Amino acid sequence: MRRKLNCQNKKIGIMGGTFNPIHIGHLVMAQEALEFKNLDEIIFIPAGFPPHKNKDITSGLKRLEMVKLATEGNEKFTVLDYEVKKESKSYSMETIEYIKEIYQDCSIYFIMGEDSFMYIEKWYKYEEFLSEVTVLVARRSFDKQKVLREKINKINLDGYYVEEIPTAFLDISSTEIRKKFSLKKNPRYYLPDKVYNYIIKEGLYV
Ligand code: ATP
Ligand code: MG
Repeated sequence: MRRKLNCQNKKIGIMGGTFNPIHIGHLVMAQEALEFKNLDEIIFIPAGFPPHKNKDITSGLKRLEMVKLATEGNEKFTVLDYEVKKESKSYSMETIEYIKEIYQDCSIYFIMGEDSFMYIEKWYKYEEFLSEVTVLVARRSFDKQKVLREKINKINLDGYYVEEIPTAFLDISSTEIRKKFSLKKNPRYYLPDKVYNYIIKEGLYV
C-alpha cells in the first residue's frame, strides 16, 4: 500500500485509456481539461488486460512506457501503473477507490471522450462512479454535438456532475494510427516524436 497523501482539496484529473498508442488527441484533451478546471495534476492510467484474453493488444508495459514518454516534461502530468500491474481487468470504479485511498480529500475529475461517455450506463457500478467524480467530457465529432449535450443534461438532471471540455475536434484515434502503421503510411505527426520513435524501435503495429 502506498503512502497516504493529504490533498488539501487539490483537484486531481484522471485520464484513463488503452493508449495503444497514446496520441496528441489524448494530450490535447488532458491539457484543455487541466486549464478549463484549473486542475493541480492529471494522472494518466493505462488500462490493464488479462494477458491470456488479449493476445493482440500491445503489452501493458509498452503502452505504459509510451504514456511515460509522451508526458515527461509536463510537471502536471503523472503516470500510474496501477491498472497495467493488475492481473484482472480493472474497472474505473475500483481505480477511483484506489485513488481516493491515496489522495485523501481530493476532488476527482475523470476525463473521457464523448464515445466513452455515451455508454456510461454500461460501466461497472456507473451510478457509484458518477457519485464519486466530476466527469469532464471531450467532444470528438462535430455531428454528435447535439446528442452529446442532451446526454450531459440528462445525467446532470439525475444529480451528477458532468461538464463538456471546450476543446478542438481532433479526429484522431489509436485505431487509425495502428492502421496507418500497418499500411506503411506515416502517422508520425499524430504522435509525440518520442512515442513515434519508440514504436519504430520496438517494431509495433507492423
Ligand atoms: P482506440 O481507437 O484504440 O479505441 P482511442 O483513440 O479511442 O483508441 P483510447 O485509449 O480508447 O484511445 O481513449 C482513451 C480516452 O480518450 C477515451 O475516453 C476516448 O474517448 C478519449 N479520446 C481518445 N481520442 C480522442 C479524441 N481524438 N478526441 C476526444 N477524445 C478522445
Ligand atoms: Mg477508444
